[in-house]
Amino acid sequence: MSFSLLPIAHEPLPPGPAAACPVCGVEGQIWLRDARDTCGFIEGAWTYRRCGACATVWMDPRPAPEQIATFYPGVYYTHSAANDTTAALPRSRLIKDAILRARFGYADPLPSPSAANGLIASLTGSLAWYRDMAGYDIRYVPRVPGGRLLDVGCGSGEFMRRMAALGWDVEGLDPDPLAVEVAKKSGHRVVCSTIEHAPNPAELFDAVTLSHVFEHVTDPAWVLKKIFGWVKPGGQMTAIYPNAAGTLARWFGRDWVDLEPPRHLTFVAPATAAAIMTRLGARTEVRTLTRSCAPVIQQSLNFRRAGAAARYSPAGLKARLLERAARLIDALHGDRGNEVILIARKP
Ligand SMILES: [Zn+2]
Repeated sequence: MSFSLLPIAHEPLPPGPAAACPVCGVEGQIWLRDARDTCGFIEGAWTYRRCGACATVWMDPRPAPEQIATFYPGVYYTHSAANDTTAALPRSRLIKDAILRARFGYADPLPSPSAANGLIASLTGSLAWYRDMAGYDIRYVPRVPGGRLLDVGCGSGEFMRRMAALGWDVEGLDPDPLAVEVAKKSGHRVVCSTIEHAPNPAELFDAVTLSHVFEHVTDPAWVLKKIFGWVKPGGQMTAIYPNAAGTLARWFGRDWVDLEPPRHLTFVAPATAAAIMTRLGARTEVRTLTRSCAPVIQQSLNFRRAGAAARYSPAGLKARLLERAARLIDALHGDRGNEVILIARKP
């Protein structure tokens, strides 16, 4: 891939026809036409383009903010009140916690594991895949004693709750007033705003996280610049988002349920996201993950068959076999997983 990044303007890119790549400016080819809402919330059909130079995928035309607000139904699925999960913890959780103690510095807030769980953790924690699964739950944020964390797109606050329990001083940002209300009832400090309109914080953060948020914006480079500006020197930003350059997107195209038109507007390819962050002065790590994607495959198969809302059903044999194949392809290529993990540290 060879491309040069567009300069980042003071304002996000304007709404309207969007033939040019929002990241590098090269005219994109039509990638998918007639893409429908995989959740069945919103009637309509949308078009996505793909950049031949930097592999970014985006919706054309680029919707205006007031239009984007109409794409979200009253109850968006990430924003309902979270379940209380403090009941008896399964062994997998205890082993993950032991890995977080040993590998991510959480020895202080987490209790010591039993001898058996500690042994399993020390064996599995040396394997990259298990380390990744444990790290995913904390968005790969290592412990900073007394550290401040901002969760962008915090929804009703489930991640804030987990990180507060691990000793973080947490704050959130979310545009959904209903979700913000739920998070505030749990005692969290949350600003209700889109990223674009959010005020810059008075004090910078040791960690800023975005999980399945980055695909909801129209000007990805502008957003990364703004958010990385909220990170303290020595701090970290983690963005996790669906990979439109991955195997599942290639297999299923407009039936890939993580495409989710019209709410998912932009998918920046892994290497392109790394290039943006490097240009912003970050020390950057990017990779992809094929994490329990059989349900995504099953829903994509359901959507392809029914052409309507992709109902949830347990993953069948075909989906489980396809998941194995997708994992193998990701292991061979390194950038074909279904989620991008972008980690940027500020020197
Ligand atoms: Zn491009």
